[in-house]
Amino acid sequence: MTKAREAVLEVLESAKNPLSAADVAANISTLCDTATVYRSLHYLEEQGLAESFVLYCTTHGTERYYVPHNAEHRHWFHCEQCHRFVDLGCCRIESLLEKMEAETGVSIRTHTLYATGLCSECRAKTGAANNSAGNEPAQSQAPTAFIASSDHCQSRSG
Ligand SMILES: [Zn+2]
Ligand SMILES: [Zn+2]
Ligand SMILES: [Zn+2]
Repeated sequence: MTKAREAVLEVLESAKNPLSAADVAANISTLCDTATVYRSLHYLEEQGLAESFVLYCTTHGTERYYVPHNAEHRHWFHCEQCHRFVDLGCCRIESLLEKMEAETGVSIRTHTLYATGLCSECRAKTGAANNSAGNEPAQSQAPTAFIASSDHCQSRSG
């Protein structure tokens, strides 16, 4: 692997969340231009060392984000207000996908799922601002129960 590819993979692996090509370029210590970063990301994905998904948000538009492939397959939440990623934990829709396969006869190889909305911090801020208005629908229960511990991630061997 070239130095640039190694450096790009290193940036992905040390990141705590998905990165766009621009994020990688901004974090890379090796001297390489954006075109090299793009090419390296493409290469890493081709080699199965990285995977990516495309996410739309009003500020960033349509952007591709990369994670290293050695990471546990998981799903991400993107906050539409502060634009940070929140780890939603390991994949819990596999049984649903199996059901879909059984119902339709297709064979699912990969899937992409991301969620957008407001993170807990932005919710708290928005909630505080809205409290005086008092016209919020019954939606005040924070979805904290949805964030699972990842301890059962490893034990899925079939
Ligand atoms: Zn937020
Ligand atoms: Zn964003
Ligand atoms: Zn999944």
